[in-house]
Amino acid sequence: MRDPTSFLRTEYDELVHADLDWKLRLLAGPSTPWSIVDGKKVLMFCSNNYLGLSNHPAVKEAAMEAIRTHGAGSGSVRPIAGNMDLHMELERRLAQFKGAEASLVYQTGFAANSGLIPQLVGEGDLVVSDELNHGSIIDGVRLSRAERAVYKHADPGDLERVLDASEQHSPAYRRILIITDGVFSMDGDIAPLDKVSALGATHGAMVYVDDAHGEGVLGEGGRGIVSHFHLSRDQVQVEMGTFSKAFGVVGGHVSGSRDLVNFAYNKSRTWLLSGSAPPAVAAACLAAVDVLEHETDHVRRLWEHTRRFKRAMADLGFDIGRSETPITPIIVGESSVAKRLSQRLFELGLFALPIVFPMVAKDRARIRTIMNAALTVEDVDFAISAFETAGKELSII
Ligand code: PMP
Repeated sequence: MRDPTSFLRTEYDELVHADLDWKLRLLAGPSTPWSIVDGKKVLMFCSNNYLGLSNHPAVKEAAMEAIRTHGAGSGSVRPIAGNMDLHMELERRLAQFKGAEASLVYQTGFAANSGLIPQLVGEGDLVVSDELNHGSIIDGVRLSRAERAVYKHADPGDLERVLDASEQHSPAYRRILIITDGVFSMDGDIAPLDKVSALGATHGAMVYVDDAHGEGVLGEGGRGIVSHFHLSRDQVQVEMGTFSKAFGVVGGHVSGSRDLVNFAYNKSRTWLLSGSAPPAVAAACLAAVDVLEHETDHVRRLWEHTRRFKRAMADLGFDIGRSETPITPIIVGESSVAKRLSQRLFELGLFALPIVFPMVAKDRARIRTIMNAALTVEDVDFAISAFETAGKELSII
């Protein structure tokens, strides 16, 4: 009899053969500037913990205290018996921080995108999506029964073309949703949200931004991309984000009008049907919002380090792409070169992973670096000198 699971081994073997399988690195202990990765002490240069908040004393203490006062788990989904005071307080504080009427917290950012998008649009609707949007957006769009149109990356002219064409559609679309990442995670460039939202307004479309990599980074005190462009809530109706990056914890969130949140509370399946965040998580997120609000130094240091690193890398002759944020890709071309560079950097004590085809184009393989405010200036200089050494050895510069 044929083994019905034989595809598991075959498909995995194919990935291994093509060197496209994930080789998991083991982090022993916390994600700190100097971490133990695969048993070696290295400078962490690729985590999303932009501000180092995952190890902030107040964030850690809030998590521990919440376990003492609220237990390890919430016991249920939010709409049944798992809606704790900590969740409500987190939503209230987040809305305040974002300057939104209301916010809603999901278990993860992935759950936010895959749970909300299919409720905002469905059959007879159109989603217009940037070609480089995150996978969780793509899955959310797939779950909706809406038609999809993709516009060229960060190109308002092409977005306008798609929106103009959509007006000819018969019967007319019931709703149109424009959706874009705020900061694109592979290149570190910023979506032209001012232009996107203006086009949304002229075409009567909703605008949805995934600000996973903009929060804690862009805008006043790290309030994100909507703040960065000084846009109002009427111009960007859905601002989605995550607590798993600059906030240093885990969890997704959505901010916008009270109507949006009431709608999502009642319709969004990932929110309705999946257990709510444990107390420690909700409390840690709450403390992280508090830290961002009161300790503005973290964001300032993140940008100082970012500018220092980008300037030095460009001066050394590296191709650092079109990044405008603390995500700096070091583009080297061939996948094999990116892999060798990453390996050599690791030997030199710097942990930064290669991003290769199919995640990026075949000739655009890179090391994706992510700056961290918890680094010292000496740490940043260490990273620069590791790149200089490895780059020269491999004849990249
Ligand atoms: N959107 C973007 C742009 C992301 O980079 C990520 C995380 N990789 C997510 C959404 C998902 O967020 P989370 O980790 O909270 O599930």
